[in-house]
Amino acid sequence: MAKHKTHYEDCDILIVGGGMAGTGATFEARYWGRDMKIICAEKANIDRSGAVAQGLYAINCYMGMQWGENQPEDHVRYARNDLMGMVREDLAYDMARHVDSAVHMFDEWGLPMMRNEETGHYLREGKWQIMIHGESYKPIVAEAAKKSADKVYNRVMITHLLMDETNENRVGGATGFNMRTGDHYVFRAKAVICAAGGASHIFKPRSVGEGMGRTWYAPWSNGSAYALPIAVGAKMTQMENRIVLTRFKDGYGPVGAYFLHLKTYTQNANGDNYEKTWYDQTKEMVGEYIDHIPTPTCLRNHAFIEETKAGRGPIYMVTMEAFQDPHLETIGWENFLGMTIGQAVVWASQDIDPKYQNPELTTSEPYVMGSHATCSGAWVSGPEDVSGGIPEYFWGYNRMMTVDGLFAAGDAAGGTAHAFSSGSFTEGRLCAKAAVQYINDGKANGISVTENQCEKFKEIIYKPLDNYTIGRNEITSGTVSPSYILPIQGLQRLQKIMDEYVGGIGTNYMTNGNGLKRGLELLEILQEDLENIGAEDYHQLMRAWELRHRALVSQCVTEHTLFREETRWPGYYYRGDHMKLDDENWHCLTLSRRDPKTGKFTMEKAPLYHLIDEEVDDKQKA
Ligand SMILES: Cc1cc2nc3c(=O)[nH]c(=O)nc-3n(C[C@H](O)[C@H](O)[C@H](O)COP(=O)(O)OP(=O)(O)OC[C@H]3O[C@@H](n4cnc5c(N)ncnc54)[C@H](O)[C@@H]3O)c2cc1C
Repeated sequence: MAKHKTHYEDCDILIVGGGMAGTGATFEARYWGRDMKIICAEKANIDRSGAVAQGLYAINCYMGMQWGENQPEDHVRYARNDLMGMVREDLAYDMARHVDSAVHMFDEWGLPMMRNEETGHYLREGKWQIMIHGESYKPIVAEAAKKSADKVYNRVMITHLLMDETNENRVGGATGFNMRTGDHYVFRAKAVICAAGGASHIFKPRSVGEGMGRTWYAPWSNGSAYALPIAVGAKMTQMENRIVLTRFKDGYGPVGAYFLHLKTYTQNANGDNYEKTWYDQTKEMVGEYIDHIPTPTCLRNHAFIEETKAGRGPIYMVTMEAFQDPHLETIGWENFLGMTIGQAVVWASQDIDPKYQNPELTTSEPYVMGSHATCSGAWVSGPEDVSGGIPEYFWGYNRMMTVDGLFAAGDAAGGTAHAFSSGSFTEGRLCAKAAVQYINDGKANGISVTENQCEKFKEIIYKPLDNYTIGRNEITSGTVSPSYILPIQGLQRLQKIMDEYVGGIGTNYMTNGNGLKRGLELLEILQEDLENIGAEDYHQLMRAWELRHRALVSQCVTEHTLFREETRWPGYYYRGDHMKLDDENWHCLTLSRRDPKTGKFTMEKAPLYHLIDEEVDDKQKA
């Protein structure tokens, strides 16, 4: 323990995670907090970290208000429809009204934007997406953050939040370690912005063994964005709302550009359009939601899953028509080269040329991430001008969690689906502005974080190294020890539990109350064993803490899934004991809180307020 030097850093604002939301927060914190000390702690290297590390081919959230393309209200309607009626409309509106200005900054900072040659507008891939040459998207936003921060700490993984000892519901900073040097870090902060990204690999992935790591969402996204607030008792929302993606098989190549830009479509093994086959059955489950336009993503997944179960798979993407056009063929390949090179490599290795053969699609394992197309995350306050009159949605500072001084952006923030990269960056900016205000209002005065608290965490952080060093002596060879469990062993056990009991691929996304209760018991036992996790070096220490965060997120997801007694999003998961959508009882948001002292979760419902009207079509207007 003594061999790990502790570095203390006292600052005003600490940003945990320098991904899209974290870079936005770091940049904006400097704008409003000119004289403040702003620190960003990043697990990887901010230049190439987070879900956007490899680059993107499209910015998925841009209104285009300057050209009258879309208004923020339109985006709220779109997201609400896609989520079967459920988003935090105040937060979604707030993000949408500010997102264009963030995209304009990316343009100014040198991100190559594609343009429509006729109009000069950004080139649209779809109603909300604009196309970019985005290989360098992440380094560009990282540069803005690096110029704004007093210091960016790369390779520092935050394992725990620190709490004020004079007020048990106020944050006081965060602590963790450098995975290269092994040094211990303590950041005492007046406000903390949690932007540490969503959770992959909590469910068993389709790619296992040699393919492990080739998952859709970045394998290094270990759910710290959720685990850190859950551990200190912040309320979470919609954690059951996991996402399942339809993707090209084995490489998880995205299909958005194919559907929207190349106008490709899907068919079953007999060459039939299968979606209409499942219309009546789906209507029976979810009622009029199946008639909505566009069809909610989960319901399209549902038809895919049912068709495959009926034995008429594989499902193919019809690329052979579009790829006869050389321009579209180029776009089809470039789409992967700019974002998911692995898919192009998989096709090459399997002799698939999409010009002559329609490639297979599959549905992915579930992921938990609040910035993409679902709503999981922390329960946060909305902005005063939108949420001000609604006590359940507003408690003072925009995007502040139910823990004072702790803010959430990007994947971390719940209820704000369809934010994507640009929306996450925007949410980071909104958090930073509010955090500066929180400090300027004197709300962070008198925080006390004693050395005692920091030392206690230091002991906890490095315990896996001790577990290994001592336990290793009990075995002569191999990896199985009576005294410790290795991170990879624990991860596979976690994934098996989640897969089999909480609605993963192994059960075709099916679960029920009994299964979920058993899953919770097994997760509890896993938690006990994880006290004995062993790490042989600093890299494995990171893996150990990633797993501990994943396990906590998994418990929360399972509690939420058990609480919501309906099948709200068929195609994402099914409650076999409640196979229908139930608007009468469940047209509401779900909230959880884990008591930091006992580790027990309590669940409640929160009202779902519809603040944006349904669109009035032209006929009705007339
Ligand atoms: C495969 C894929 C494709 C996508 N495609 C698109 C697209 O085409 N267009 C689009 O606009 N959006 C797309 N998105 C969505 C977009 O990438 C996310 O919405 C966005 O990155 C979320 O921002 P974030 O800051 O919350 O998370 P991230 O950008 O993932 O950042 C999280 C950061 O936190 C760091 N971190 C994690 N844990 C810790 C810890 N404990 N301590 C310190 N640091 C930590 C990570 O290293 C990372 O840098 C895609 C996402 C994925 C996964």
